Amino acid sequence: MSEDDDGLTPTEDPAVALARARALAVFCDFDGTFSVQDVGSTLAKQYLGPSRIELLGRWQSGELDAWTYNIALFTGFRLPKDELHDFLATIELDPGARSLLAWCAEADVPFRILSDGFDYNIDWLQEHHGVRFDYASNHLEYGGAADDEWRIAPGARNPACSCGTGTCKRGIISAVRRERPGTFCIHIGNGRVSDLCGAEEADLAFAKETLADALRERKCPYEPFETLDDVVAKLTSLVAEARQLRES
Ligand SMILES: [Mg+2]
Ligand SMILES: [Zn+2]
Repeated sequence: MSEDDDGLTPTEDPAVALARARALAVFCDFDGTFSVQDVGSTLAKQYLGPSRIELLGRWQSGELDAWTYNIALFTGFRLPKDELHDFLATIELDPGARSLLAWCAEADVPFRILSDGFDYNIDWLQEHHGVRFDYASNHLEYGGAADDEWRIAPGARNPACSCGTGTCKRGIISAVRRERPGTFCIHIGNGRVSDLCGAEEADLAFAKETLADALRERKCPYEPFETLDDVVAKLTSLVAEARQLRES
């Protein structure tokens, strides 16, 4: 890992905060974090060439937010299921994805994918890769004017948050915190747009790529990672350290 990837030093050692916490919960982005490729953006690049470029400009200028960009992009979008499935079969999981699921199951830590992608694709990929996890995401179903047409709906819009996404991760993490006070929340992600609010809301963020850039710009501390294996290694040492602190 280069020096540029070093997260900032947190004001409080996460192990100390974890030692004080009553529980631990792990949240993880899907596209580009739990999976290697980003389903939505790869799909858009592959199938929506010119209209995507135009809409991207309108999003970057602030005219569209992340969700209205999705709406503009995918309204009337037609892709036969077979073709979608062939495309989804090219999406790989992070090499540490299974280890992370196993670690959470073993440690009895609730794990939840928070995705600004679509449930249809996540369900298909779970089946395809033989993994199971709890998740929150946007909704996709087939059957508009034509039976190969997409119909999409947001999962958890949050007007109180500036992310503008269909599934606001801050809102979901803060709701868990309200329900179960004293929970130490971890968020793992890679994207400035869809992960920043979740990373800010979490007690500890694991970040790479544009999420790491955004957190560095804001001087928010984070743990850098490359694959989820790095995250599992760090979680293991963090939990061991917190246990030692509690026992001392
Ligand atoms: Mg992502
Ligand atoms: Zn948000």
